[in-house]
Amino acid sequence: MDKKIPKKITELDFQNRLRLRCPFLFEKVQSSPLKNPKLLHVNRSLAYELEISPDELSKGSFLNLLNADLLFEGLLYESTYYSGHQFGHYVARLGDGRALMLGEIKTTQGHFFELQFKGSGKTPFSRMGDGRAVVRSSIREYLASAHLKALGIPTTEALSIVVGSDLVYREEIEKASITTRVAESFLRFGHFEYFSNLEDKSNYIRLLEFVIDAYFPAFSKHPNRYILLFQEVVKRTALLFAKWQSVGFCHGVLNTDNMSILGLTIDYGPYGFINKFDPSFICNHSDHEGRYSFGNQPFIGLWNLEKLSHTFEIVADSKDIERTLNSYSSIFNFEYRRLLINKLGLNETLDGDDDLIQCLLNCLIVSKMDYTQFFREISKNNYFSEFDNNYKKDFELFFEKLEIRLRTQNYNLEERSKKMLKVNPKFILRNHIAQFVIENHELKGGLFEKIFDILNSPYDEWPEFDYLSKPPSEIEKNIIVSCSS
Ligand code: AMP
Ligand code: MG
Repeated sequence: MDKKIPKKITELDFQNRLRLRCPFLFEKVQSSPLKNPKLLHVNRSLAYELEISPDELSKGSFLNLLNADLLFEGLLYESTYYSGHQFGHYVARLGDGRALMLGEIKTTQGHFFELQFKGSGKTPFSRMGDGRAVVRSSIREYLASAHLKALGIPTTEALSIVVGSDLVYREEIEKASITTRVAESFLRFGHFEYFSNLEDKSNYIRLLEFVIDAYFPAFSKHPNRYILLFQEVVKRTALLFAKWQSVGFCHGVLNTDNMSILGLTIDYGPYGFINKFDPSFICNHSDHEGRYSFGNQPFIGLWNLEKLSHTFEIVADSKDIERTLNSYSSIFNFEYRRLLINKLGLNETLDGDDDLIQCLLNCLIVSKMDYTQFFREISKNNYFSEFDNNYKKDFELFFEKLEIRLRTQNYNLEERSKKMLKVNPKFILRNHIAQFVIENHELKGGLFEKIFDILNSPYDEWPEFDYLSKPPSEIEKNIIVSCSS
C-alpha cells in the first residue's frame, strides 16, 4: 500500500479534465449540505487507494467535505446534462438531478478517480425531485458497490456515507444522506444521446475525443478511433452483463442513462440478487412488465447498445457500427460460458459445454435450490455422494453429464475444490441482508462494519456468520424494493 498519504484536503491533487475539455456538459450548482452531519461509514481500503488517510476523513474538515460543505480554491460543484431511454422511451432532458461532480483525484501512480456527491441537494436537473437520497438507498448502494467489486465485477464505488438530521418524503418520512461516489468516470450512454439528439455534432465529437484521450489513449491517433471506442463499449458491456448473470445480480433499472460508457455497474437502485435460479425474477417493484427481469438483462444490454450505436452514426460508417453491435452476443455468450465453466471447476470451455450449462440451468429451475448455495455446496463436496439429499434427484442428469465432462480434464479433487471456493461465494448481498443492515445501522457494536467486511470477502467462510449466507425466510422474501430512493 502506498505510504504517501496527504494529511490535508488542500494537498489532494484535484483536477477536472472533463470540465476543462467539455464545459458544455456542466451547470454550476450550489450544494445543500445536511444539517448535523454524522459520518456513518468510510470505505477504508478505497480511501487508501485514493491516497487519503481514512482516519483524516472522519475529522472535522474532511467531514465537511464529505457533506458537500467545503470549497477551496480550484474546486467547483457541477452537475451534468444527459438524457436517456427510460423503460424504452426517450427522455430528452434528465441530467444529474441529485449528483454533483467535485473533480478528479490523481494518485501518485497517475490514476484518475472522479468524486461525486449523491444526495447533496437540488440541481437544474432535479425536475420534481428534492435532490436528496435517503439513508436506506445510500446504504444499499454503499454495500452493493463494495460487494460487486469483491466479486470481481466492474463498478462505481462509494467512499463514505454522511447522515444528517434532514427529513425527506418518500412513501414515508426518511432521513437524508450524502454518499461520496468514486469512479474512473460517471459518463453514461445518456451523455452521448443528449448531444446526438440535439444534433450538436461538434460537442458530441468533443465528448468522444475526451473519452478516447482520457480512457483509451491507445486509440487517439487511429483514423477509426470512434469505431474502436464503440467496439470497446460493446465489449465491456457484454462482459459486464455476463458477470452479472453469473452471480445472479439483477440491476433493476437498466435505462440508458444508467449505463456506464466504461462498462461499470452504475446507479444502484432497486437491484437484487436471485435466490433460486429464476429468469423471470423482477427486483424492481415498479417494473410491471418485467422489462428489466433477471433473464431479460442480456437482451437489454444489446437494446441499450443499439440506442448508443445510433449516436455513432454521426461519425462512423453504418456497416462498421452494425458489425460491432452484432459482436455483442458472441462476446456475452463466450464470457458467460467461461464463468459458469469456472464455477463448475472445469478448466477450459469445450464444444458441448453449452448443453451442459443448459442442463444445469434447467435442473436449477426444477429443483428451486438456492443458486449461490448450489455452487458453494458443489465446491466443497465430492459433489454427488454428499450433495443435499433433498435436491439430489433433480440434479441426477446434470451430475451424470458433469462426471463424463470431468473425465476430459486432469484434476485433483482437493485442488479443484480450492479453486471453486474462490469463484463461488458463500455470501451474496440478498435483499433481506441489506434490509437487516438498514434497520440496524444505528446500533453500536460494529454490525455495519462486520457485514461490510463479510461482503468484501464473500469467498471466506466466516463460520460464526453462517446465518448471513442463508436464503431468506418466507417473511423476508416479501421485502419490496422500488425506484423510490
Ligand atoms: P434513476 O432512475 O435513479 O436513475 O433517476 C432518473 C433521473 O431522476 C436522474 O436524472 C436522477 O438524477 C433523477 N432523480 C432521481 N431521484 C431524484 C431526487 N430525489 N431528486 C432529484 N432528482 C432525482
Ligand atoms: Mg440514474
